Amino acid sequence: MLRRLAVLLAVALPLVWLFIAYERAQLGHVARDESERHVENLSRAFAEEVRSGIVTIDLSLSQLRLSWRRNPEQFGAIVAELNSYMQGRLRIDVAITDVDGRLVFASSPDAPSKLDLSDREHVSTHLRGAPADRLFVGRPLKGRLSGRWTAQFSRPILDARGKLAGVIVAGVSPAYFSRFYNTIDLGKDASIALVRTDGIVVARTTRDGVMRDSGKVLGGFPYVPGSGPGGTFQRVSRLDGVERHYGWSALPEYGMLVTVGQAVRDAQARYARQKRWLGYTGAAVSLLLALAGWAALAALAALDHRRRGVASLAAAEARWKLALNATGEGVWDYSFGSCLVTLSPSAQGIVDAEGTLLPFDRAAFLAMAHPEDAAAVLHALDAHLAGVTPDYTAQYRTRLGNGNWRWILARGQVAERNGAGEPLRIVGTVADIDARKLQEEQIRHLAHHDILTGLPNRLLFGDRLRQALLAARREEHRLALIFFDLDKFKPVNDNYGHAVGDVLLQQLAARLRATLRASDTLARLGGDEFVVLLPRMAGNGDARKVAEDILRELSRPFMTEGLSLSISASLGVAVYPDCASDADALLRCADAAMYEAKLHGRGRVAEHAPSGRGPLPPPPFLRDAA
Ligand code: GH3
Ligand code: MG
Repeated sequence: MLRRLAVLLAVALPLVWLFIAYERAQLGHVARDESERHVENLSRAFAEEVRSGIVTIDLSLSQLRLSWRRNPEQFGAIVAELNSYMQGRLRIDVAITDVDGRLVFASSPDAPSKLDLSDREHVSTHLRGAPADRLFVGRPLKGRLSGRWTAQFSRPILDARGKLAGVIVAGVSPAYFSRFYNTIDLGKDASIALVRTDGIVVARTTRDGVMRDSGKVLGGFPYVPGSGPGGTFQRVSRLDGVERHYGWSALPEYGMLVTVGQAVRDAQARYARQKRWLGYTGAAVSLLLALAGWAALAALAALDHRRRGVASLAAAEARWKLALNATGEGVWDYSFGSCLVTLSPSAQGIVDAEGTLLPFDRAAFLAMAHPEDAAAVLHALDAHLAGVTPDYTAQYRTRLGNGNWRWILARGQVAERNGAGEPLRIVGTVADIDARKLQEEQIRHLAHHDILTGLPNRLLFGDRLRQALLAARREEHRLALIFFDLDKFKPVNDNYGHAVGDVLLQQLAARLRATLRASDTLARLGGDEFVVLLPRMAGNGDARKVAEDILRELSRPFMTEGLSLSISASLGVAVYPDCASDADALLRCADAAMYEAKLHGRGRVAEHAPSGRGPLPPPPFLRDAA
């Protein structure tokens, strides 16, 4: 996946830049085509303007020639008038030579009189050749005094018979042809030029408008014969070193051509903004691609990290599931945000829940927990949630679907807290401890009860006696102990067997338990010894009355294995606080009283009397029986 992404980026980025390079090149081509079209059109317009300019000059020449022939004396004035007529748009310096080429008239102060111009091209052309009346465009000349350049236009002067009589020359400032420059908008390095077809520059204008190139010679296309009527070419100018697109148009009738040039740089500048934007777009797309790639890489890394995390979590989960399954425990996971608890299947079984994802809160807990246990559980939970305890442990009874209770052991720990320390999630385990609780209950019962009769044993009795004494002392009431021992029980065992003796003890315990009030405790202290605790006595004679009731109940025969057995007992009564104030002493008092009863013939009740009052005779119903 990662490699695929890297390859994608490696391919996409060069493609983007290739596309941008292509588009930039296209823009370059568009700029070039547009520039060529412009310069070609402008060169045609320029040619037309030059043509009309030359026609004006030529017309002036023809007119002046006529004036010269008719009125040479007034010729200077005529030239001046012509120039003033032109209002500065065109200034013509006029020179006239005789048939030998010697200057006979010059409107320019530059020219010295009688100067021989026969070697000048624009004069010699007419002197040498056949006397054809045609306009000749000569090399531009620099004035010897003024230092100004002038383009030379000449025609022959013919006499009435058509013979050569001299040459008339019009010197025109090349600037006359450069007016066109001001009407074009081809950027700062544009150029226009009027050039003879042999390459001699008549007039040339660039941005500074200075005519410094007149008279220079150019070569190559299109300044060669047979170049055609016009077209375009691209070249680094030999005059100023600027590369331009040139449009050119021929003026064949004058042996000249015009060029209009736009600097390649200026032409391209029109699209420079678009090119720059293309560059920015490319950079932005590359950045976006890189960012997207980076984000994708980060996401992939996160995904990978998560996948590995999930895998290790799954492994850990499998391990603890195995461990928990082995112990029979279930797992729960509670989210405080959603108030939902997730239960593992075994947890669901343990709490007898209807599903594995359930809404749960305190009310739901109170509805399922035993009322006796709920408060302690919530207390433990709150202590952990508040961070007081490192974990949460609680044992409580939970209500099952059938209405029964089951003891469970819940343990948990907050797994996630928010920035404020509030718990977000708590996870834990739950175990069924019903059997253990039952066992504990049985053990506790066994420890405190007599196995044979199920009555409280000496241990539990001692406990209850001490509790009762505390209450009696606090509330200032009396309590009593009735200690009794069966009379002649050993012979029952001896005569009928130990098992019969056991049954007799069990029946006896059940019968007495039913006779006594629920608040009284009947305990078996061992062998055939029993004790009754009456925790609260109203009157003085109460204990004795209860003792006599016991004696009466015992005197009724017990039926076991078809035998009817009669038994009696000797009972000793001791009252708190009359006899003693602590448990052991009180028990000893009761024991002593019982011993008194035995001593005085058994089958009777003896009260322990600190005053030394001895045992009483047996009650009437025993006396009758005896
Ligand atoms: P006394 O009138 O002086 O009390 O004579 P007794 O025969 O009752 O003898 P004593 O109280 O000294 O002894 C108690 C007898 O109770 C001894 C024993 O045979 C019998 N005994 C003690 N514990 C058990 C028991 O768990 N089962 C049965 N079957 N007999 C017991
Ligand atoms: Mg006995």
